Amino acid sequence: MKIHEYQARQLLAKAGVAVPAFAVAEDIPTAVAEAKKLFDAGIKEIVIKAQVHAGGRGKAGFVKLVTNLKDAEAAATFMLTNKMVSYQTGPEGLVVKKLLIAAAEAIAKEYYLAITIDRSRRTATLIASAEGGVEIEVVAEKNPAAIIKVPLHPIMGLQAFQARELAFQLGFKGKQVGQAADIMMKVGKVFRETDASLVEINPLVVTPADEKNPDGRVLALDAKFQFDDNALFRHPELQALFDPTEENPAELRAHEFGLSYVALDGNIGCLVNGAGLAMATMDIVKLHGGEPANFLDVGGSASEEAVTEAFRIILSDPNVKGIMVNIFGGIMQCDKIARAIVTSAKNVGFKVPLVVRLEGTNVAAARQILADAQAEIPAMQAATDLTDAASRIVAAVRKAG
Ligand code: GDP
Ligand code: MG
Repeated sequence: MKIHEYQARQLLAKAGVAVPAFAVAEDIPTAVAEAKKLFDAGIKEIVIKAQVHAGGRGKAGFVKLVTNLKDAEAAATFMLTNKMVSYQTGPEGLVVKKLLIAAAEAIAKEYYLAITIDRSRRTATLIASAEGGVEIEVVAEKNPAAIIKVPLHPIMGLQAFQARELAFQLGFKGKQVGQAADIMMKVGKVFRETDASLVEINPLVVTPADEKNPDGRVLALDAKFQFDDNALFRHPELQALFDPTEENPAELRAHEFGLSYVALDGNIGCLVNGAGLAMATMDIVKLHGGEPANFLDVGGSASEEAVTEAFRIILSDPNVKGIMVNIFGGIMQCDKIARAIVTSAKNVGFKVPLVVRLEGTNVAAARQILADAQAEIPAMQAATDLTDAASRIVAAVRKAG
């Protein structure tokens, strides 16, 4: 699960990390009013940031620094009326529904700090770089030596000596060292306590020296959290941060019915039981020259209701020009699933070609059910095996298109 930057800032602030104060606005007048408050309080420059579940906002024009109310209104209007397209969103972009408004901080230097799971090491790993602010992917490619990785002890987590050593390595000076190390320790703690899979601060900044802070201050100016969905049951307070409007609506609906669904770019909808079989089905569709429109696993014991919903979800994608059903009846009996397919095909009612391949327990009875329903569902073809199914659906979609 992902959350918004403003929510991530709240979690960091609660963990004791220095985060600048901010306001959130959901419409232009509120954004302008919040900006006015800051200017009236004597703030010279403010920052307006789109709140979406994707990064790369700065480059996309969705993080703006403004010095007067007119520009603040223009920035808020632009962000709330345009989709944000960045290297992390795909060309369709994301609608912006919330803005974060804060006094801009002066920046002397930007750093990168994150903790995430390193799957190859099977442990949480702290990742830091003195080349922050920019896309870390670019730094990783162009100057991998500028990225420091510290694997964390599975039980003890980040140790204070590691944090200090790292702060020195990153080039923090004087009082910055203690502040940076303290932030690292707190990020380590909040990472563990929230069952996060990612906590990222990019940029972590040092502000310029002033009278009160001769070494500047170390602050988190951007924040990102991702949580392990399988641990969310332990964190009702985090579940409450979930924003369904940021999710793909079809994927969300699938989740409610216990289906694993991922939308893809192709035109052949796949309805399969079991994640491995779903992957194999996508492979064989591609092998026969087709492009899958989705990954969909109805699970090992899909009910008629779930199968009906699966058809609806697949068909809600306007790109779908054909459907391939591939079910292996193990625990689930083929005749039950055949009945579910027939009922839901009738209920949902569609025109695109449907190819059904069933194998396993009670398959003979299942084939009979499909044969009996053939006249009522003319778009349906029964396939004898997986290769037959894939070639049939690819041919049917070609013929229709
Ligand atoms: P992202 O592009 O989605 O990662 O959004 P960020 O929050 O990281 O903002 C992008 C960039 O905007 C940062 O790297 C900073 O250079 C700049 N920025 C963000 N907030 C401030 C601020 O308060 N003051 C200044 N001077 N720059 C900021
Ligand atoms: Mg950032």
